[in-house]
Amino acid sequence: MPHLLVIGGSDAGISASLRARELDPATDVTMVLADAFPNFSICGIPFYLSGETPDWRHLAHRTREEIEATGLAVRTDTRALEFDIGGRRVQLAGPDGREEWCPYDRLVIGTGAVPIEPPIDGIRQEGVHLLRTMGDTFALEERLDRAERAVIVGGGYIGLEMADALTHRGLGVTLLEQAPEVMTTVDVDLGAIVSQELLRRGVDVQTSALVERIERRGGRLVVSGTDLSPAEADVVIVVVSVRPDSALAREAGIALGVRGAIAVDRRMRTDAPDVFAAGDCVETWHRLLAKRTYMPLGTTAHKQGRIAGENAVGGEREFEGSLGTQVVKVFDLAIARTGLRDDEARREGMNPATTQIRTWDHKVYYPGATPMELRITGDRDGRLLGAQIVGDHRGEVAKRIDVVATALSAGMRVEDLSSLDLSYTPPLGSPWDPIQMAAQDWLRATAPAQAGAAP
Ligand SMILES: Cc1cc2nc3c(=O)[nH]c(=O)nc-3n(C[C@H](O)[C@H](O)[C@H](O)COP(=O)(O)OP(=O)(O)OC[C@H]3O[C@@H](n4cnc5c(N)ncnc54)[C@H](O)[C@@H]3O)c2cc1C
Repeated sequence: MPHLLVIGGSDAGISASLRARELDPATDVTMVLADAFPNFSICGIPFYLSGETPDWRHLAHRTREEIEATGLAVRTDTRALEFDIGGRRVQLAGPDGREEWCPYDRLVIGTGAVPIEPPIDGIRQEGVHLLRTMGDTFALEERLDRAERAVIVGGGYIGLEMADALTHRGLGVTLLEQAPEVMTTVDVDLGAIVSQELLRRGVDVQTSALVERIERRGGRLVVSGTDLSPAEADVVIVVVSVRPDSALAREAGIALGVRGAIAVDRRMRTDAPDVFAAGDCVETWHRLLAKRTYMPLGTTAHKQGRIAGENAVGGEREFEGSLGTQVVKVFDLAIARTGLRDDEARREGMNPATTQIRTWDHKVYYPGATPMELRITGDRDGRLLGAQIVGDHRGEVAKRIDVVATALSAGMRVEDLSSLDLSYTPPLGSPWDPIQMAAQDWLRATAPAQAGAAP
């Protein structure tokens, strides 16, 4: 029986393992993970820490019993120490520390990413936490139980979710971001709307604030640096970014690519024979740019893992690529993007135009209508390139960004958005969906003759 060894038991690892078993039940699959939490949704960590999802066990997409019922062998608390590519074996250290070599016919690497530790004096001390794993979560939770104030370093989506979560938990929160605005994945003026929401909910937001040191004074931590008012806290959470966990692959001589991620082709093959890799540890094929990037996201890890699993049992599936489609909820807001922003398209030598409208998520005569900002980017030749949306989270922002993502996947033009047959009922939308109004506005601004009927 061929043996597929999968290193990593999160989004990429479980997707690869399950797909391989599904397609070829004759394959013997072993999934090895360094911690005790196979197939956990680490995306749900902020909602556990906020108290909205009170039981951490509910973050499991599947229980261990459900996973094992598919015929997978699961080895928890077991760490891969070395890949011996020539010998087709991986050295493992089990829960008791005992080391052994485990042979494989095919190997899938899904070791994920690790948090970046920025150069801040005093970052390694009690009360300062990075956040990635369930282990990190429990350590932080213990501290939160005794804390009144928190400082979050990093205004990306995880920092923002944590600001919301800790406020919900009853802590006072300061959020420090080095960039001119929070949420740098969207344009600065859309990020400013998010800052306003944080301020409205009592979060002390400081942007263009470079954190340089964390000191303990009395019983508290004091976070200071350039262009920021020193902030006191009982706990500091540093969530600035992640880097691919590709060290074992590199040491085994496997080629790395963009930002040190494992280089893979679109079949998720590395340059080593019978070794596949997927998820946050690998490069991501960008669908619009037709080149490799690094975009660590759970949605991508699932898709890449599934393809790695399929190909590891003889398939020939290609990864279609990512558009960087994402959405995040911060207090009452949802912020979403897909495809390229104006500046990103310009950097790639395109000739983009971007327009923005503000409209309602549904007909205003029906109670509860909320405003949303929609920004469409298209090449001046009419090709759709991307969208960004900020609105109330009850206003179906995610649905709207997904319509654009689907249109981008289909290679559609901006004007094609206008003719999509989208659903409508006054409590949920308008005869012209906001995304269609935004497309028509883009057409009016860039090519008045093509604008067609106004809403
Ligand atoms: C707080 C938070 C919120 C997030 N929210 C979202 C979201 O809303 N939407 C979204 O798309 N993405 C989100 N993400 C990102 C998403 O969680 C990751 O993209 C996804 O988990 C990547 O999956 P992965 O399997 O590649 O890696 P990881 O989830 O990092 O898992 C790596 C696995 O490898 C194992 N491992 C590592 N090294 C070894 C070793 N040497 N030996 C054995 N096992 C090893 C680990 O134990 C783990 O099982 C969030 C991430 C965090 C931290």
